[in-house]
Amino acid sequence: MSASATSDLATPAATDAAEAAVEAISGAAGQEVSFSLALSQDQKDIREWVHGFAADVMRPAAHEWDEREETPWPIIQEAAKIGLYGFEGIAQFFADPTGLGLPIVNEELFWGDAGIGMSIMGTSLAVAAIFGQGSGEQIGEWIPRCFGTVDDLKVAAFCASEPNAGSDVSGVRTVAKFDEATNEWVLNGQKAWATNGGISDVHVVIASVDRELGSKGHAAFVVPMSEAKGISQGTKVSKHGLRASHTADVFLDDCRIPAGHVLGGKEKLDERIARVREGKKAKSQAAMQTFEASRPTVGAQALGIARAAYEYALDYAKEREQFGRKIIENQSIAFTLARMKLEIDAARLLVWRASWMGRNQVPFENAEGSMSKLKAGEVSVWVTERAIQILGGNGYTREFPVERWHRDAKIYDIFEGTAEIQQLVISRAISGMHIK
Ligand SMILES: Cc1cc2nc3c(=O)[nH]c(=O)nc-3n(C[C@H](O)[C@H](O)[C@H](O)COP(=O)(O)OP(=O)(O)OC[C@H]3O[C@@H](n4cnc5c(N)ncnc54)[C@H](O)[C@@H]3O)c2cc1C
Repeated sequence: MSASATSDLATPAATDAAEAAVEAISGAAGQEVSFSLALSQDQKDIREWVHGFAADVMRPAAHEWDEREETPWPIIQEAAKIGLYGFEGIAQFFADPTGLGLPIVNEELFWGDAGIGMSIMGTSLAVAAIFGQGSGEQIGEWIPRCFGTVDDLKVAAFCASEPNAGSDVSGVRTVAKFDEATNEWVLNGQKAWATNGGISDVHVVIASVDRELGSKGHAAFVVPMSEAKGISQGTKVSKHGLRASHTADVFLDDCRIPAGHVLGGKEKLDERIARVREGKKAKSQAAMQTFEASRPTVGAQALGIARAAYEYALDYAKEREQFGRKIIENQSIAFTLARMKLEIDAARLLVWRASWMGRNQVPFENAEGSMSKLKAGEVSVWVTERAIQILGGNGYTREFPVERWHRDAKIYDIFEGTAEIQQLVISRAISGMHIK
C-alpha cells in the first residue's frame, strides 16, 4: 500500500487514535512502566555469577559424577563456600520481588550439569515445604538445618511418593498416628524415589493422619535422621539420567517424632481435619501445595539442560563439514536449530510468567505453573534429542555431553507431576470440570 493510499483511508477517528497513540508513546518516555522483560543489574550479576560456577566448576566435573553415580559432596561444598548453596543464598534468590531470581539461578546451574544441579537444588523441595507450610518458628529451626554449614554440610529430602502412590498422591499409605501418652507422632510406611532420601538429615515426610479422607487427610512431618529412630534408607535407585543425584526409598518403621514436628503445628492440623470431616472447605493437601509452588523452578531446570544442548549443537553445526560445506548450511539443520532456539525462548516466557505469578501471589487460574513445567520439560526432551541428531554418531557416544543431557532431560516429563498429569491439571483448570 502506498503512502497516499494510507492517507486516503485515514478517517478522523483513526487520525485521533493515531495521535493519541503517538502522544502516549512520547509521554511514556522516561516514565516507569508496569511491564518489562528487562533484567535488572542485580539479576544480570547473579546470572553471571552462577554461570561462572556452572562453567568453571560443574561442567568439568559433570561426566565424572554421572559415571560415578554418587552425590558430588565436594562440589556442593564449593557451592556452599560461595553462598550458592545455603539458607542465605536461597532466601536471596527467593526474595527477588519479580520472582525471577530462582528460575535464573536454576537455569544456569542446570546448564552446567543437571545431576550436580539436582544435588545442589534437591534440598529446596524440602525447604519449599517447610517454608510453605511451617510456622515461623519451624521455618527458623528447620530450614537452616536442611543445609547445614560449609564445614558440616547437609542436604534435605522431600518424601511424598510411594511405590503405589506416584501420580495419585491420594494413595499414600504411610500413616502418622498420634501417641497421647508420649506426645509423639508414630510414622509407618515406605517412601519411594526420594531425592536425597536417606543421606539427608531433614526428611519432610507426607503421611496420612486419616486414610479415609484421602489426600485431605495428609500432613507433612519433619523427620530428622540424626534424632529419630526408625527411619532408614532403602534401595538406592540406579537411573537413566540425573545420575549424580541420589534417589532412594526411605522406610519408616515405628518412627517416633515429637508432636511439634508436624508442619504448621498440631493444633492447626486438628482444626483442618475437623473441618474436612464436617465436609467444610480446607486448604489443599500438603504434597500438592509444595509441587504447585515449585513447578516453574523445575521448568527452569529443564530449560537449562535444553539451552546447553542447543548451544553445543549450534557450535558443532558451524564447525562440522560434510559434502564440502558446514552442516549448518543445510536448511534442515539450520531450521532445526532455529526451532530449538524458538522453543527454548517460548518455554522461558512461560516459566518466567509462572514464577512472577507465584512470587506475587497471583492465582494460577489456568494452571500456569503446570503449563510452564509441561512446556519446558517437553522442550528439553525434544531439544536434547535433536542435538544428538545434529552431532550424528558423536552425539550418541559418551565422549560428547549431548547424550547425557538427553538422559537428564527425560526426567522433566516425569517427576513433580508427569506430562499427562500436568495436562490433567491444566484441562481441569480451564474447564472447571473433573476431567479424568
Ligand atoms: C529421579 C527421580 C526423582 C524423584 N524425586 C522425588 C522426590 O524427591 N520426592 C518425591 O516424593 N517423589 C520423587 N520422585 C517420584 C516422582 O514424582 C514420580 O515418579 C512421579 O510422580 C510419577 O509417579 P509414578 O512413577 O508412580 O508413575 P505412575 O503414576 O505410575 O504413572 C505411570 C504412567 O501413567 C500415567 N498416568 C497416571 N495417571 C494418569 C491419569 N490419571 N491420566 C493419564 N495418565 C496417567 C503417567 O503420566 C505415567 O505416564 C522422583 C522420581 C524420580 C524418577
